[in-house]
Parts: sequence; structure tokens; C-alpha cells
Amino acid sequence: MGKVIAIDGPSGAGKGTIAKLLAKELGFSCLDTGALYRAVALALREKRIEPEDSDDKLKAALTNIDVSFVDGRVLLNGKDVSEEIRTTEIGHYSSVFSARKVVRDFLLGIQRNAAKNADIVAEGRDMTTVVFPDAWKKFYLDASLNERAKRRYLQLKEQGVDITESEAKNDVVERDKRDSSRDIAPLRKAEDAVLIDSSTMTSGEVLEYLLKIIRADH
Ligand code: C5P
Repeated sequence: MGKVIAIDGPSGAGKGTIAKLLAKELGFSCLDTGALYRAVALALREKRIEPEDSDDKLKAALTNIDVSFVDGRVLLNGKDVSEEIRTTEIGHYSSVFSARKVVRDFLLGIQRNAAKNADIVAEGRDMTTVVFPDAWKKFYLDASLNERAKRRYLQLKEQGVDITESEAKNDVVERDKRDSSRDIAPLRKAEDAVLIDSSTMTSGEVLEYLLKIIRADH
């Protein structure tokens, strides 16, 4: 098992950017677990699975799904879906399907496997609490709702998504609610995770702060 730096936090907190920067700086691999949930949601939608379908139906659909990361790209049954999974629609369905135990169980092994032979920076909603509770370093990255909504809006705009600022804010509010209130692996700060409020920090400043903590007890 390699070293794991686990980062959790709500939508738009900047986890993805920070995880990539940190991984590059330390020579670790980066595991974007939101992308795995998005790829599964895309696959389930392609199979016409509905959020209210039974566990058995979901389980059967999942048996033919293969998701993996290769060189930072997300592959679904061998096809590169890295761009396709970034729409707001798939964001919505990933949040809905991620509340289902069968989906979380399906991705648990895939996520843990990523750390088997490599040092990784893993980011998501339950890295510090469920997937890697014994992680080498744990962080909880947060920011104010307005700031997260703004970042989400700019990120989606950059990806060419047609969205207004208030739609981006609604999306963040809705996903916050669902991610924090679900029964299984809800988003919460692990007791031993270091909390960082990045509302007034640049990504460079957050990176520097994390590196200082990581290197302090090397
Ligand atoms: O981080 P991202 O927005 O790409 O994640 C998409 C969705 O996947 C989140 O809204 C969340 O519901 C779900 N997710 C999760 N657990 C993770 C990562 C993502 O439930 N570890």
C-alpha cells in the first residue's frame, strides 16, 4: 500500500485543482473519485437506469461496467469519457446515484486498488472517513457557498457549459444538501482531518499551506 493523502470537501471547494497541484509537486498519482461516480452515472444513464430503480436492477447493470483511470483520463469500458462526464446533467445523476449503497460498494474496491502500488492524492467526499480512514494525511477543504458557486460557474463556463451564475449556485446548494444528508458515507469532516477554509486563498496559497503541513513531520 502506498502513501495516501486524502482530501474531502463540498462541490466547488477547489479539491480537484489542489489535488492535481499537490500530486505534481510530490510526484504522487491523482485520484479524482468524483470522476468515477460521474462515469458510473453516465453508464447507468446509457443503460436507461432510473434513480428509483431497485438495488437488484442497479447491481445487474453495474456488473458490465468497467471504470478506470489511465494517465489522468477516465475510461468507461475502454472509452475515454473525460469530457462527457463533466455536464451538469451527469453531475446531477452522479450525486443521485452516489447515495445508493450498491454504487458505493462497487467503487470502493476500485478506489482502494488505486493506492495498492502507488502513492496517491485522493479527493472526494468520503476519502478521509470511509475509503482511506488510515490515510497518511487528511484534509477537509471548504469555502463559503458564494465562493464555491462562483468557482463552479467559472469552471463550467470554461468547459463550454451554457449556465448562469444562479443556476451554478442552485446546483452547488442541491448537491451540498444531497451529499451531506445521505445515509451512507455522507460528506463530513473526519475528526483527524485538517480543516482549510480557502474562501480568501488562491490555489497557490492553499498548496503552500498543505505542503507545509505535509513536510512538517516528514
Ligand atoms: O466531485 P464531483 O462533483 O465530480 O463529484 C460528483 C458527485 O459524485 C458528487 O456530487 C457526489 O455526490 C459524488 N461523490 C461521492 N463520493 C465521492 C466523490 C464524489 O459521493 N468520493
